[in-house]
Amino acid sequence: MNGKAKIDRDRSAASVTKDSSSPACPIKGCTDTTWYADAHDIEYYTSDRTYSFYKCQKCNILFIVPMLWDRLGEIYPKNYHTYVPAKKGVAPRQRSLDRRLLKVLATIPGDQLSVLDIGGGNGWTLDQVKSCSPRVSFTQCVDLDEGAQAQAVARGHAYHLGRIEQFETDRRFDLVLALGLIEHVRDPALVLRSIEQLLTDHGRVLIMTPNFDALDARLFRHRSWVGYHTPRHFVLFNRESFTDLAQQSGLGIVSFSYTRAPSYWSLSVLGLMRRLGLVEISAQRPAWYHPLHPILRSSFSAFELARTPFARLSHMVFTLGRR
Ligand SMILES: [Zn+2]
Repeated sequence: MNGKAKIDRDRSAASVTKDSSSPACPIKGCTDTTWYADAHDIEYYTSDRTYSFYKCQKCNILFIVPMLWDRLGEIYPKNYHTYVPAKKGVAPRQRSLDRRLLKVLATIPGDQLSVLDIGGGNGWTLDQVKSCSPRVSFTQCVDLDEGAQAQAVARGHAYHLGRIEQFETDRRFDLVLALGLIEHVRDPALVLRSIEQLLTDHGRVLIMTPNFDALDARLFRHRSWVGYHTPRHFVLFNRESFTDLAQQSGLGIVSFSYTRAPSYWSLSVLGLMRRLGLVEISAQRPAWYHPLHPILRSSFSAFELARTPFARLSHMVFTLGRR
């Protein structure tokens, strides 16, 4: 625990240092980092400041400067899309998640399975996991939101209010979910090591995270690509760099696939349209709720589907196991 705490302290010191010449990489503290892009919050307009993304040449990752890990209340507004109950678009997402969950659950032996969802919010995904297999006998959520805690507990899930690095338990988990999580934390390596320690011998980890090598990421590199999710995504990977980090954390890659993130396209295009004065988007009316968003998202979803067999799409899904 002492070792962990020390690493945590060292990393946080490195990641908040704003040194315009060469800010330290949050993975290993490397100093061989170069400026990659400037970006703004074009979704929720939580502030009008300019953030920079730097690339660590050694770790092949992007990271944000400044990294406001201690100001989450400011960078996640009350109308943040995961806090507001979803209406349209849930069904396809749910179907695709169910398919993935069924596939990974089928590879895990045992009559009684324990499942942990990191960043699981109100327990919606854990409900899905339970409905996918009667073998799921224990479900645990780890998240930071007190409002979500009451909902998750009411739905029958155990809840730890806090960060995964601080979660202490004697229990080991057969399945750990970290969907859209690893890019939001200030020390992804520490989180992966924590996950590895919580995993049973035959356990699996399902991770989804953005891919900074995707076509939309390249086209919108200097136009606040929404995969940056500025300033809420702290560290971004591509297939190779996440694979390296997982392996260094004691986890092996069991399977990998690219998957679509049509919202990145839609919201990035809306950001461009706002710059051209064609649409009105503000803190009061975030891009996520603009009426054009679902229309654009459907179009880009079809475009991405056509590219699926051969393209490096905007999201990556990794299944990991102990090495
Ligand atoms: Zn590095």
